[in-house]
Amino acid sequence: MTIIQDTAVTLAYKITDAATGKPLDAGTTAYLHGHDNLFPRVEAALGGKAVGDTVTLDLTATEAFGEHDEALVRTIPKSEFPPGIKVGGQLQGPGPQGHPVLYRVVKIKGPEVHLDANHPLAGRAVRFAATVKSMRPATAEELAHGHVHGAHGHQH
Ligand code: ZN
Repeated sequence: MTIIQDTAVTLAYKITDAATGKPLDAGTTAYLHGHDNLFPRVEAALGGKAVGDTVTLDLTATEAFGEHDEALVRTIPKSEFPPGIKVGGQLQGPGPQGHPVLYRVVKIKGPEVHLDANHPLAGRAVRFAATVKSMRPATAEELAHGHVHGAHGHQH
């Protein structure tokens, strides 16, 4: 069996900084092939692969987590926050288009809190390496939802 449209695939993946080799993220994930669950170049490379196969791709920021968007960065006076605000905390607030977005607290400097709603890995060229751990045909329910259920997939 190899990966084709509508295959439910489990991958072990590792993301490193393309320039420095620094590890950024690693884990196991399940995705539905052909449903835009992954970065398009990664999904294209996985087509036709079998269990045990590995793909390694160097992705630009645009091909991976997106460019860093300055419109998603905000600085708010600390006095506007409840006590106990911490770096690494998350809060919802209005985005540049007025829709709510999730901000991370990236820095607290004196009286200012720096917030960023970009993906933590936005703006980085990354190396994405993945090994195919298992695969099976997707269920009708998974195809209707456009994602994989169960272990390493959506839990709902
Ligand atoms: Zn679902």
